[in-house]
Amino acid sequence: MDIITVQHVVDSMNTVIDTVLENEGYFCELDSAAGDGDFGSSLAKGFRGLRSNWESLNKDDIGAFMRSCSMIIMEKCGGASGPLWGTALMQAGRYAKGKNQMGVEELSEFFQAMVDGVKKIGGASLGDKTLLDALIPATESLKDSASEHEGMLLALRKCVKAAENGATSTREIAAKKGRASYLGNRSIGYYDAGAKAIAVILADVLDKCFVEGAVYDSNENAGL
Ligand code: ADP
Ligand code: MG
Repeated sequence: MDIITVQHVVDSMNTVIDTVLENEGYFCELDSAAGDGDFGSSLAKGFRGLRSNWESLNKDDIGAFMRSCSMIIMEKCGGASGPLWGTALMQAGRYAKGKNQMGVEELSEFFQAMVDGVKKIGGASLGDKTLLDALIPATESLKDSASEHEGMLLALRKCVKAAENGATSTREIAAKKGRASYLGNRSIGYYDAGAKAIAVILADVLDKCFVEGAVYDSNENAGL
């Protein structure tokens, strides 16, 4: 399996909605350790909105789909998450304008567009204990996979692992951005809620849309 299609992206977003809604309480709990405890519900508001508008989303191509998702997320998500997640999806949509499919290299550029969007709107960098600490390693892993000419499934497995390692690394650092930064060193020892959410979401998308019940090249199914 070397490419993902519009249908994969649409199915993946449907899984993202499930994951965000199932983990609403957990994501709030994570945010209450070092933030103000609203992250799960802020995110759920947006993705619940996406589900109620599902039929009206433009699914003509990957870019159009991502852009129509981004408007709803931007409008409905509360807190810092609306602008952050909305911009990430918007920038990915801009990158994928007119595309009906993406290979590993294009997927890495699609992820890079999300990273650039989050950086631009929030001004954070790697190591500031934000969702970028999961999203940047995930993106770098896809770039490495593209240069190694790895198949899509292996690239996705490595990408999920990189996001998980990145999320875990946030427990060891102090927050420099967002509400958690008010705690300074007292934020050490806790996950960044956004980074952990990225890792959980990507793992679910891999399991539900690309591995479980999917028929792909058995050589690629060998795992890491
Ligand atoms: P808040 O309560 O601060 O308005 P949320 O609770 O909705 O925001 O989201 C908190 C999460 O957003 C954090 O865990 C972090 O991952 C992410 N975040 C906060 N500020 C930034 C930023 N400037 N850049 C990137 N991500 C950020
Ligand atoms: Mg919060």
